[in-house]
Amino acid sequence: MTTAEPIRILLVDDVHDKLLSIRAVLEDLGCEIVAATSGEEALRKLLHDDYAVILLDVHMPGLDGFETAELIRQRRRSEHTPIIFLTAFPDDTFAVRGYKLGAVDYILTPVIPEVLRSKVAVFVDLYRLNMQTRRQAAEQVALAEERSARVSAERASRAKSEFLANVSHELRTPMNAIIGMTELALDEGLSPVVRDHLEVVKLNAHLLLELLNEILDFSKLESGKFTLDDAPFELRREIEALIGTFGYRASEKGLELQSRLDDGVPDSLRGDALRIRQVLMNLISNAVKFTERGNVVLHVGLESRSEDRVRIRFSVADTGIGISAADQERIFAPFTQVDASSTRRHGGTGLGLAIASDLVEAMGDRLSVQSSEGEGSVFSFALNLSTVAPKTDGETHLETSPRNESTEVRVPPPGGLRVLVAEDTPTNQKLISHVLQKRGHHVDIAATGEEAVAAVVQRQYDVILMDVQMPKMDGLQATAAIRALPGRERVPIIALTAHAMSGDRQRCLDAGMDHYLPKPLDIRKLLEVVEELTRQGVDSCEA
Ligand code: ADP
Repeated sequence: MTTAEPIRILLVDDVHDKLLSIRAVLEDLGCEIVAATSGEEALRKLLHDDYAVILLDVHMPGLDGFETAELIRQRRRSEHTPIIFLTAFPDDTFAVRGYKLGAVDYILTPVIPEVLRSKVAVFVDLYRLNMQTRRQAAEQVALAEERSARVSAERASRAKSEFLANVSHELRTPMNAIIGMTELALDEGLSPVVRDHLEVVKLNAHLLLELLNEILDFSKLESGKFTLDDAPFELRREIEALIGTFGYRASEKGLELQSRLDDGVPDSLRGDALRIRQVLMNLISNAVKFTERGNVVLHVGLESRSEDRVRIRFSVADTGIGISAADQERIFAPFTQVDASSTRRHGGTGLGLAIASDLVEAMGDRLSVQSSEGEGSVFSFALNLSTVAPKTDGETHLETSPRNESTEVRVPPPGGLRVLVAEDTPTNQKLISHVLQKRGHHVDIAATGEEAVAAVVQRQYDVILMDVQMPKMDGLQATAAIRALPGRERVPIIALTAHAMSGDRQRCLDAGMDHYLPKPLDIRKLLEVVEELTRQGVDSCEA
């Protein structure tokens, strides 16, 4: 039944004039009055429509009123429709028979118009109310169904994202081994042909890793398994590192890559430096990728400043191919590229901007774009960040990238360091110890957190490399246990983790670690951090 359908009354009488006079009485109830001149005709009408009430003459040729009522009650559609009998004979036995057949009333004719109208009106009102309740119930059911469908769809999408996140996470561990072992092999005396082959392996392994990282980030963002870090960082150092990272690629294309920091932008800030860097890396990488001549400028400007808060706008402008207005709407959606053939030409997954805009949103703003085709594009976002007092020299800070960005590796400390490697994966154990031993360091291996703690009880180490994810006692618990040992409060502990997301850095710091290296490990960085950290320890002891 729809809202537009009228409320109907069925009037059954073989006398035409009586039909007319009753119709006149009920006219102003606002219902559709349907007349039938026999019981048979009434039954036919009842096949097609629902009625609020039936007024049924008792005496009719053919089926009389009682027989008709009996048949009405037998049909599912009309089994509960109220029936009012009309008769000219005030006979009680008739009335009793009528009520037994399910009549709701019994009225003598000629009728008193007001009485008939008000009795029928009661049933019309009841019917209307009933319809309304049914409609509301149907709406509630539809709403509940819609809600449950939405919840199932969200659950399915979350499960998919979690699956993707887990798979890409698991894939990073063998990638770690492939990249590490390739780098080790490249350090050996190789024939030029083998070296070339291995360089190709290394390049492709890095591309695959980049792809895995994007899928991992995207699926973690999608599945809601994402938290922001909040730690001090130095803005200028971050910007310099970014420009350093892309300088070579830009100059290869003959592009000028510049950074401009407005006066007054504070240097010591708190926030998620890793995520800010990730967004800017994506924007700069795209800007360099889609620009053939001219320049790419990273601009950092101060929008507002209060006592200990600043609003800083980051923008990346290029003089590249630009993006049409219609495409500007699409590019933030996952797996979207303006020109699908660009994948072949420039590489990429179409995930970069989707991740960048989700990250910016998580940090409280929207990533926006202004662009004209053939002239260039400007991507920008603004972040509210807290300012912090600049750090004093000599402090040890947990960082994801080493202090010294230069690729030059220093001379190893004479005699080598005693290093404990707590790591449960045999390939990683082999890789890390190989790298360290080659530099003249002495390595002990612990395959679990418990073994690591036991080794530290036995021996004094210069530095500990601690895998975060280990069976039974994990790296965080092992670190806490080591820090509680007398005389081991200061031994440098470096976290090794494939969990590049979700506030891991802070969790490692809270557990008492000094540094953080993401997996797959960059061998050069690993050596730099190990040697730098132990040198800092010696320096601060000497000071
Ligand atoms: P990817 O770069 O991996 O293809 P992104 O999500 O980073 O994926 O970008 C999506 C698309 O947006 C690109 O393929 C490109 O078509 C367009 N785009 C992004 N940045 C720029 C830019 N600076 N200039 C022109 N087009 C761009």
